[in-house]
Amino acid sequence: MQEKIKALESLLSKEKNIVITVHRGPDGDAMGSALGLYNILIQLGHNVSVITPNNYASFLYWLPGNENVIVFTEQEQKAKKITDNADIIFLLDFSQIGRLDTYADFVKNSTATKVMIDHHQEPDLDISDILFSDVTACATAQIVFEIMELLDYKGFINKNVAECLYTGIMTDTGSFKYSSTTERTHHIIAELIGKGAENSKIHDLVYDNFSENRVKLLGYCLNQKLQIFKENNAAIISLTAEELKRFKFQKGDTEGIVNYALTIEDVIFAVFIAEKEGMVKLSLRSKGDFQVNEIAKKYFSGGGHRNAAGGISDVSVDETIENLKEIFNKYKTQLNNTKL
Ligand code: 5GP
Ligand code: MN
Repeated sequence: MQEKIKALESLLSKEKNIVITVHRGPDGDAMGSALGLYNILIQLGHNVSVITPNNYASFLYWLPGNENVIVFTEQEQKAKKITDNADIIFLLDFSQIGRLDTYADFVKNSTATKVMIDHHQEPDLDISDILFSDVTACATAQIVFEIMELLDYKGFINKNVAECLYTGIMTDTGSFKYSSTTERTHHIIAELIGKGAENSKIHDLVYDNFSENRVKLLGYCLNQKLQIFKENNAAIISLTAEELKRFKFQKGDTEGIVNYALTIEDVIFAVFIAEKEGMVKLSLRSKGDFQVNEIAKKYFSGGGHRNAAGGISDVSVDETIENLKEIFNKYKTQLNNTKL
């Protein structure tokens, strides 16, 4: 660890062209980590660009520095030029290069020094020169904080940085309730509040700022689209492209819906399926020791964490539901005996 910190310290000792990138469909932790790091590095005089593979939910647009984010799918030429000129590329909140989608090749082909900071399982060792991986960390934002501490950069954690890192930790811990939340997490959160993060305002901006359509879509999902498989301790909520269109779907509108299925007693494994951007995407969530990342990897070309994972399906929404029913049956014994 000390060696990696030394290497990073020396990399950052002179003014550099730096790119910070994150996984496609960036969430609060991806954007919070990226912009937290961005707001530190600009104070050190570096030339920093945050490039995301695609767009993200508008409830993250208030994050300080968001106005300078470059979305690859919207400004391909500009992103390509900046990436070609980068000395350092930070890869945040993902462990496999494929999660950069169409931006992946540009990063792979760049000669920049690549620094990965992440908390996902099985980091691809071939894509980074310096790897900070901690699969026990609740959020990449927490690792970013810890690296800043080791670099002796804590003096650069101003209100902007604090609000970004707070958002990353808050969203990836389900507001500090998942088992990945530790005493250390709360100490870091306390420090971030001490450095100016307005915690109540941040919760409001992220969680109490929904459009009317988003809330109605949630109601529709719970009323009409929730299927419970009691004998298998499992549940599914699914949406077709037509249904999303009916509720004027905007990016981020379905975030968190899967968690409602998990609030039902005895539901250990919850799946949310949505037909988006010509793909059938899955969000898998579980309680206790039931590992959904294994399921995501084995059946849906995906991955993630033990209790939160995702992937894609090559067949229709209906066929995906049929496949899931088989999977539930296959894992019935495990699901019936999950330890919380
Ligand atoms: P979500 O369901 O919120 O989209 O994703 C939950 C978690 O699953 C993410 O934090 C990420 O770790 C993982 N995940 C989601 N989609 C994919 C995917 O396509 N591939 C991999 N490897 N992981 C994914
Ligand atoms: Mn994360």
